[in-house]
Amino acid sequence: MDAERDENLEKDASHNSAGEGDTGNDANTNADGVTYTYINANADGGKDTVKNKIRGIRGFLIDLDGCVYRGDTLIEGSDVAIKALKGSGRKVLYLTNNSTKTPQEYAMKLRRLGVDADPAEILTSAVATAAYMRRFERSSCYVIGEEALRSALAQEGFTIVEEGNEGRAKYVVCGLDRSLTYGKLAAACAAVQRGAKFIATNTDPNLPVEGGYLPGAGSIVGAVRIATGVRPIVVGKPSRYIMEIALERLGLNKEKVAIVGDRIDIDVKAGKVAGIYTVLVSSGGYLKVRKMGLTPDLVVRSLYDLVALL
Ligand SMILES: [Mg+2]
Repeated sequence: MDAERDENLEKDASHNSAGEGDTGNDANTNADGVTYTYINANADGGKDTVKNKIRGIRGFLIDLDGCVYRGDTLIEGSDVAIKALKGSGRKVLYLTNNSTKTPQEYAMKLRRLGVDADPAEILTSAVATAAYMRRFERSSCYVIGEEALRSALAQEGFTIVEEGNEGRAKYVVCGLDRSLTYGKLAAACAAVQRGAKFIATNTDPNLPVEGGYLPGAGSIVGAVRIATGVRPIVVGKPSRYIMEIALERLGLNKEKVAIVGDRIDIDVKAGKVAGIYTVLVSSGGYLKVRKMGLTPDLVVRSLYDLVALL
């Protein structure tokens, strides 16, 4: 598994290359005139089967960036779609690999964009990492990451040690840190070399921004991995660890849960790992419908188009 993730990390570096062109899928128009695409239509028995499947979904794990909003801009119709999902009694859990904001901060951002959200409905890779670490003895952590990650670990009873005291760390937890320094990398590597357990919030290689991308947590995790030769335990999507936490929070059977996201190698893969229904949206601008042997169950333009199928 780790070897596979590692390989993915390398492959993911090509994310910003041109799209993959024709996907060979069938485009359809539903009663509302919404164009959508589904995979293996014949094998599945057609679009009625797709609709029946979607209608039976009671809980949606929804990616944020590229699905609900892009950067600071709401993706058209996602506010209406989420309102409709909740209005129909379905559960929503927002799932993001970004470890730099707390659930409270994400809830505020969503509300600012007009999307109903409660902090309890947001699972970040920082919160998931701290929850995953409940299985370990509470001890000292050296952290490369921002305040949201540090506070999530502190809330679970872990002690954060600062640079210079990394020799005391039993764990090195690594996430996105926009104040990264060579000193922090050196401290993390020193602790891992001394035997500290190496845990990564996620390994997204980059962060899409207007006009390009910035280095993601995977770029930082990769530096420590390459320097030490030690592969981390990865908690965020597509790891089964965050998915186990997410499914437990929803409290629904896998057959009644779908994941919706814009990245096939992260969101769709996470869904496959968890054994749930997978929906790829093209609203993130990343549409790669088949990649690394992964095929989503359904491809739609946006969350709005998905909800139109209900
Ligand atoms: Mg996304």
